[in-house]
Amino acid sequence: MNQGKKYYHSVFVVHSAFVDCVRTLFLFILTGVFQIYFPTQCGAETMESVNTVFICSGHVKEPASKIDHKGAKSFSGKWEYEFNDDIVQYFEDESFRKNDIQYYVLKAAGNIGLKERVEYANTIVPDLYLEIHHDSAQESDIKKAMNEGENSILWNEIQGFSLHYSEQNCCPERSKAFAQMVADELLKHGFTPNLYHANIENMQCVDRKRGIYNRIPPMGLYVLYNVKNPAVVIECGTIINPHEEKFLTNNDTRKKIAEAIHRSVMQYFGNN
Ligand SMILES: [Zn+2]
Repeated sequence: MNQGKKYYHSVFVVHSAFVDCVRTLFLFILTGVFQIYFPTQCGAETMESVNTVFICSGHVKEPASKIDHKGAKSFSGKWEYEFNDDIVQYFEDESFRKNDIQYYVLKAAGNIGLKERVEYANTIVPDLYLEIHHDSAQESDIKKAMNEGENSILWNEIQGFSLHYSEQNCCPERSKAFAQMVADELLKHGFTPNLYHANIENMQCVDRKRGIYNRIPPMGLYVLYNVKNPAVVIECGTIINPHEEKFLTNNDTRKKIAEAIHRSVMQYFGNN
């Protein structure tokens, strides 16, 4: 998430006939793309037993509207969408396929904007909507910590993963339950929860041990309000922190995060 331009997810785009037209075209193309990668399974029995998960990268590679961004910048200057795609890509892998779980994968490189992703998800109505992000901090804190350099103790506060759901989502309890599963998996593997949002930004933290936040106004998130299914935004870590950026750039770390999410998905659908 880009905390420097805080809470922009709740901003609504101005409608125009042109934008609607482009969106319709996107949805049409997307439907075709997903049908190629995920062919419709035949038979009502099979369809009923498949749980669908829409997993997408937060942000886009090439923003085409005012509400879309490349995301936060890491300490070394890399854009967040690249980190997001590096996690999301695992869900295209065969090893992440299960007979009863079907992932709909959308990477930032596809340049599908915030509103279009939500609209597309609402045409699929998956059983679970997940959005992958990497975190930053307030500009003033970043400046202070950067002035002090990589060894600043301020980085100890600006770190960690967090899970975001909303009581204003249609299914808050199920969303929160999934967030708890992901947090437990990450904690089990040595990841640290982000308390910066609670301690410094006064975001509503419902579980400090697990880094779980309830996103309600004035700190709401557009996706959590507008998708028609349980939804969780996963902040995998804090890329503005130089130590954590190195950690999150490591392939082993990325794989551990993707596997933690995948295990949580299996647990959520009762397939341990
Ligand atoms: Zn983000």
